[in-house]
Amino acid sequence: MPEPERQRRVLLKLSGEAFGAGRMGVDPAVLRRIAAEIAEAAKQVQISIVVGGGNFFRGAQLADAGMDRARADYMGMLGTVMNALALQDFLEQAGAPARVQSAIEMRQVAEPYIPLRAKRHMEKGRVVVFGAGAGLPYFSTDTVAAQRALEVGATVVLVAKNGVDGVYTADPKTHPDAELIDRITYYEALQRGLKVVDSTAFSLCMDNGMDMRVFGMNDGGNISRALLGDGIGTLVTA
Ligand code: UDP
Repeated sequence: MPEPERQRRVLLKLSGEAFGAGRMGVDPAVLRRIAAEIAEAAKQVQISIVVGGGNFFRGAQLADAGMDRARADYMGMLGTVMNALALQDFLEQAGAPARVQSAIEMRQVAEPYIPLRAKRHMEKGRVVVFGAGAGLPYFSTDTVAAQRALEVGATVVLVAKNGVDGVYTADPKTHPDAELIDRITYYEALQRGLKVVDSTAFSLCMDNGMDMRVFGMNDGGNISRALLGDGIGTLVTA
C-alpha cells in the first residue's frame, strides 16, 4: 500500500511539566501515551515538535535562587534536549521515525537545527523534535514554538497544556468562575493579560499571522485530535 500523502504541516508544543507527571525527570508511562497519539496522527500529517524543559530546570527559578540567569537558562535548554531524546525514543517504539534537532550543537546526540532539513524529514514522514529551545537565554519554549512554526512553514502552532484545556477569561486555578474561550485574537489576549501562553509567543504569531490552538493534553486522545485538526480548546488568531 502506498504511503499516504501528508500535506498538512503542524507544530506541536509540549511542556516539559507534562513529561514528568509533576516530578523531576520523565515518566515512561506518560511518554508512551503521548508518543502513541503522535505516531497515530503522523500517518496523516507532517509533525514537528518543540519540547519544554520545566520538568528539569526553569532558568528564572534558578536565577531567583541566586544563579546567573543566562547560565541557568542554558541548564533549562539542556533539560529540553533530554526530553527531546526521550520523546524520540518513545516515538520510534510507537512506529514513528523521529529526528531530534538541537539549537545548541551536540553532534553525538542530535542533528543541528537546519530548517530545510527539518522540512525534508517531515516530507518523508519523519517527526522532527526540536530541542534546546532557540539556543538563547531569556527565551521560552513557547516563543520558540512560534518561531519554528513560522520557519518550517507550519499552518498552526498547537500548544498542549497540562492542567488547563484552553484559554480562560481568568486563571481558572484562582478564579473558579472563569470560562473557557472558544476563539480570541492575540491582541485581545495580550490586552486582557491572559497568560496561558507567553506574551512574546503571542506577539510573534500576531505579527506574522500564525494561528495557535491551545488545548488540554490530559484527556486521552486530545493530542491526536489537535494534530488532526479538531477544534478543541481555544483558537487564537491575528
Ligand atoms: N530556555 C531558554 N531559551 C530558550 C528555551 C528555553 O533559555 O530558547 C530555558 C529557560 O530557562 C526555560 C527552560 O529552558 O525556563 C525550560 O523551558 P520552558 O520553561 O519554556 O519549558 P516548559 O515550561 O514548556 O516545560
